[in-house]
Amino acid sequence: MEHAIQAARRAGHLGEDDPAVIFHDLAQMRARLERVRAAFPPGTLHAVAIKANPLVEVLRALVDAGAGLEAASWEEVRLALAAGCPPARIVYDSPAKTRAEIAAALRAGVHLNADNLVELERIAALRAGSSSTIGLRVNPQVGAGRIGLTSVADKVSKFGVPLDDPDLPAALRLPWVTGLHVHVGSQGCTLAQLAEGVRRVWALRTPHMTTFDLGGGLPVPYGPGEPAPTPEEYAALLPAFADVRVVTEFGRFLHAPCGFAVSRVEYVKRAGDVSIAVLHVGGDLLVRAVLRPDEWHHRLELLDPEGRPKAAAASGRWIIAGPLCFGGDVLARDVALPPVEPGDLVLIRDVGAYTLSYWSRSCSRAIPAVIGLDGGDLRLLRPRERPDDLVTFWGPGASRP
Ligand SMILES: *Cc1c(COP(=O)(O)O)cnc(C)c1O
Repeated sequence: MEHAIQAARRAGHLGEDDPAVIFHDLAQMRARLERVRAAFPPGTLHAVAIKANPLVEVLRALVDAGAGLEAASWEEVRLALAAGCPPARIVYDSPAKTRAEIAAALRAGVHLNADNLVELERIAALRAGSSSTIGLRVNPQVGAGRIGLTSVADKVSKFGVPLDDPDLPAALRLPWVTGLHVHVGSQGCTLAQLAEGVRRVWALRTPHMTTFDLGGGLPVPYGPGEPAPTPEEYAALLPAFADVRVVTEFGRFLHAPCGFAVSRVEYVKRAGDVSIAVLHVGGDLLVRAVLRPDEWHHRLELLDPEGRPKAAAASGRWIIAGPLCFGGDVLARDVALPPVEPGDLVLIRDVGAYTLSYWSRSCSRAIPAVIGLDGGDLRLLRPRERPDDLVTFWGPGASRP
């Protein structure tokens, strides 16, 4: 990380008008994909969840490494196509597909997972002549896990057909419904819970089923001592999956540790015996951590202006605040750090998943540059936004009267 930060500084980043940068380590991401691949049966389609990290160049690197992509919206299907993903490796999941989107997906030939039985009727009416394969999402009702807001598999969920729905068996007998889909969640879920969800839905398969899509999963440690289950441990708990194409949709596991953000400290202020350092990223990038600090957090490290760890002993209590005009925009309360000075850098770890894709437009601050790391190479994955980009974003577009 130190080398990457120094190289980015030499390339002109982290200067006066470019005070924050986000890095994504593509080599590490590929290594994690390989690890997942080795744990699952050969021929498994690893369709990486786009919503975890939608940068087209990140998606392209995954596709080039042989992965597929899982789209949570029609727009994400378009991102997958833009990244060069063959339609047969795109999985389209969304609980809100319109008829027009379903028709377009069937024309494109991507795999569709219907979320509910009404969507299945729409697909039935539109599917003639399509090469798409069709699956049905089932909610295995294994409980919410530790984090209620990201739960998708409780007794009642907005996703999927409940396991106990009396109309489910008839839908699964339709000859053109050849896939089953389940997704339980990742952070806050135990492996036992993920595996139980898979087992319940696997038990529903009928002889004409050709695809089994077991969704995402696998939490990652955001701090010391947090659970860090491996793909091998997960795979060991799963059924043998004979005679079907297996699909996975990992997101967080592949991306989270590959991303880190660096911001210059703009100001240091004192309030009584507490010191406050103000950064250039905060709740805009880390929406969940700021709004639900009891459930989401990121490790912070203090670096000097050249990007070297600041060695001085921790002294004093610090509040590390983001740049937004919102009182809750605080990344850490009461942390012990060496003395922080303006111009120092703060490193924020494990921001590779569900951060940029949750970017908040509060205060209309520009998204920092995103730099890809590939071995020793640095490559711009997304340029930093400019104030003009924000004027366009909030403007009337071409429809201006
Ligand atoms: C979000 C999501 C995923 C990815 O989940 P992770 O927790 O990032 O592994 C996979 N499948 C579906 C249907 C999703 O909604």
